[in-house]
Amino acid sequence: MNRIKRNKTRQIRVKDLLIGGDAPISVQSMTNLPVRDVRGNVEQINRLDRAGCKLVRVALRTSDDVKFLKEILADVSIPVCADIHFDYRIALGAIEAGIHKIRINPGNIGSIEKTSIVAGAAREKNIPIRIGVNGGSIDRKKYSDATPEALVDSALSHVEILENLDFHDIAVSIKSSDIFSTIEANKLFASKRDYPVHVGLTEAGFGRTCLVQSSIAIGHLLLNGIGDTIRVSMTGDPYQEIDAAYDILRSLDIIEYGIKIISCPTCGRTDTGINLLEIAEEIENTMKAKFDSILERKNRIISIAVMGCEVNGPGEASHADYGIAGAGSSNFLLFKKGKSEGKIKCNEIISRLTGLIENDLYHTDI
Ligand code: SF4
Repeated sequence: MNRIKRNKTRQIRVKDLLIGGDAPISVQSMTNLPVRDVRGNVEQINRLDRAGCKLVRVALRTSDDVKFLKEILADVSIPVCADIHFDYRIALGAIEAGIHKIRINPGNIGSIEKTSIVAGAAREKNIPIRIGVNGGSIDRKKYSDATPEALVDSALSHVEILENLDFHDIAVSIKSSDIFSTIEANKLFASKRDYPVHVGLTEAGFGRTCLVQSSIAIGHLLLNGIGDTIRVSMTGDPYQEIDAAYDILRSLDIIEYGIKIISCPTCGRTDTGINLLEIAEEIENTMKAKFDSILERKNRIISIAVMGCEVNGPGEASHADYGIAGAGSSNFLLFKKGKSEGKIKCNEIISRLTGLIENDLYHTDI
């Protein structure tokens, strides 16, 4: 059950993706290849799409990049946002090429006339504009540090340019590498405008550090009802961002479908012949591959507990749908809703769990 009361934002449409209002919180990512690598970008975007990403950003650096963008758009189906800095002609080219959203900061384009031309072209094709500010965007004459107030002031200065052109098809992202500034700035912005917001940290690092920092910042904002789309920005393959984003959403019960693994840390009660980590990873990978799409269609979550011993395991994980618990000499107790389904061997775990889940998903209507 979702216990979070979401901040009410206005809704925008990016191709067929709704963002804001009562639309589900969507997961975004960004390709990390030069746009002239058309095949590489197409492959990355389609892989992100298969992983559950709903919107992908592609960076355009020159007007020449527009022709590559057009080729990329021809071979992908999820919405694409063009990330553009300074040159309004690239924005116009991207709109002409069929882009679904552009990220450009109106105050950086050079003049109101140029912004007006971009806003006019975007309006004509129903393309939203994302304003994205970070620590590098603040007015250094006015602020010496990227404080939350400075970040929001910067975002509002761009927003007001579009508002003065009567353009309101806007999404906003305010990011910093500092958790406190990101949280405070987004809260402050949410108190001033109702545009949908994209939340995340910038330069959040890689691996574990990134996961912890992003989970704190994004998680805190989502718990406070702020965030219509999210990105876990991570150094490395963008594909890994998607699982991380969904884990955050699943941890907060914002999405209630998929496989959720609960595992104990193990202790002296775990039989020495049991490698619980290996078993938990195999269960997660196999069950996700088998059942993720049907669980999404049925909007169901299935929790599987992987516990080290039968003394406390089933009791500690009685809230899980299914589970296994070490039962000495590489045997396991298989259980369903905390009740025993008998003992099994290690090499039977995957097939028995698969059978139980298939039975529930295909033969009963629980
Ligand atoms: S379930 Fe058993 S093995 Fe795992 S932490 Fe609890 S007592 Fe230890």
